[in-house]
Amino acid sequence: MNRLFFALFCLLAADLNAADVEIVPIMHASTVLKWDGKIIHVDPWSQGNYQGVPAADLLLVTDIHGDHMDPTQIAAVRKAGTVIVAPAAVQQTVTDAKVLNNGETTRVLDIGIEAVPMYNLKPNASGEIRHTKGRGNGYVLTLGNQRIYFSGDTDCIPEMKELKNIDIAFVCMNPPNTMPPAEAAECVNAFKPKVVYPYHFRGSDVEVFRKAVTAPGVEVKVEKWY
Ligand code: ZN
Repeated sequence: MNRLFFALFCLLAADLNAADVEIVPIMHASTVLKWDGKIIHVDPWSQGNYQGVPAADLLLVTDIHGDHMDPTQIAAVRKAGTVIVAPAAVQQTVTDAKVLNNGETTRVLDIGIEAVPMYNLKPNASGEIRHTKGRGNGYVLTLGNQRIYFSGDTDCIPEMKELKNIDIAFVCMNPPNTMPPAEAAECVNAFKPKVVYPYHFRGSDVEVFRKAVTAPGVEVKVEKWY
């Protein structure tokens, strides 16, 4: 009898782990994931169309700029009980966010969350380092047995190249304040996610990225963020 229960438990556990992740591209960095009955919003921005999109159970903010931290849209997609996770710089504005900084991990609603670095390696043409190291977060989410990566606004940094076992990656490519498509491909060729979606790519040619992704076993998928 115990064996039967164990077998049933294993079947159930396997089934939970295999729950599909549904991806809803919204606008620029704004993305919604639906998984196991939970709604995850990333960087909700009021320039996106949220018609018909359910409120957030978990809401992740990557950085302080308006296309990532938009208090108006955060208010629009939250509900009682929404857990907001953000770096300390964001929590200064979104004051009830749970702070997670680079290198820290937490678990919310059975979702593993790891904050990973996102930053510029060099100044832009105006001499400004738009994304300083340590302020913003990329995220690696663990949904069942799947690992989902959001790059945030970044160049191709060593920490991205060293990512392991990523099933689905969302990677920015939008100069001058994040890396161009060829540099994004260089990073993707290094960490080899199973599937990669260009996001935060306004003004960039995603076909340049697609052609430059040459690592075997990496599938490039292009969705409508614009
Ligand atoms: Zn941005």
